[in-house]
Amino acid sequence: MTATIIDGKAFAASVREKVAEHVTRLQEEHGITPGLAVVLVGEDPASQVYVRNKGKQTLEAGMNSYEHKLPAETSEADLLALVEKLNADPAVHGILVQLPLPDHIDEEKVINSITPAKDVDGFHILNVGLLGTGQKSMVPCTPLGCLMMLRDQLGSLSGLNAVVVGRSNIVGKPMAQLLLRDSCTVTIAHSRTKDLADVCRGADILVAAVGRPRMIPGDWVKPGATVIDVGINRIDAPEKGEGKTRLVGDVDFDSAKEVAGAITPVPGGVGPMTIACLLANTVTACCRANNLPEPE
Ligand code: NDP
Repeated sequence: MTATIIDGKAFAASVREKVAEHVTRLQEEHGITPGLAVVLVGEDPASQVYVRNKGKQTLEAGMNSYEHKLPAETSEADLLALVEKLNADPAVHGILVQLPLPDHIDEEKVINSITPAKDVDGFHILNVGLLGTGQKSMVPCTPLGCLMMLRDQLGSLSGLNAVVVGRSNIVGKPMAQLLLRDSCTVTIAHSRTKDLADVCRGADILVAAVGRPRMIPGDWVKPGATVIDVGINRIDAPEKGEGKTRLVGDVDFDSAKEVAGAITPVPGGVGPMTIACLLANTVTACCRANNLPEPE
């Protein structure tokens, strides 16, 4: 039996639709339009694509989008000054500084200069601490999208064995916190983990956030497990023509789908959910700023 393929694209569209409905209500009932400011420093091509998509989808959801594109040689002081301005701007409810930043800028310093209530990426240390202690916070978008897909697929996650492969601050660690909050028994694996294959084989929920193309084969997957593949890896695709490339995940999709109960594809799985959750976080931030009920 092959796995259910979790359609992240369709799920993300439904999340964006709900966001747009909430935005309309905020405008009609309270005269408020949520606003998201995205700051891009430099010309990293992948970041440019992300920022363009974020801006486009923000506008499509009926919100205001404020894009700030700064040259690569922008000083840390100038970037911090811009964040300060956005922190003070009442029309801006969410601030996102696109990572990575150029080497001469201290990423942590910049992230921690964002007002926590506007930190829609959920990377500020205060939000990290709030999440870790089970308090209301801004939750990082990629893990939040994964959690939504897992809940949709499985209902209650209580008591399930979850293995998260990867311990980054932006995906692995917050993912583990969210699964723990939903009463999973959580293992965080990483590059020093011994017997990774066996660890993965114990997972009812397997989340791969590594950045290594197809490193998790089907025989590491427990039969019937739910597999969430966060990895986005570009590999050569000579079958498509000379010099062509394509995207694959951290899981070997073809072999894993023969064993898993459900699995996200790459592309079309976790990726689209990330921006949808960013829009949802912006509406949440706007509601909190105005003492209005938050979307569910
Ligand atoms: P990082 O490089 O920050 O972290 C990778 C993690 O994988 C580290 O914890 C590392 O362990 C671990 N790792 C590396 N090699 C191995 C190995 N051989 N066995 C086990 N663990 C290993 O990556 P990110 O968390 O930022 O991203 C992970 C992937 O997710 C990337 O492909 C990225 O493109 C993708 N991504 C996708 C998003 C989306 O929207 N879908 C959003 C964000 C990321 P250690 O700590 O020991 O070095």
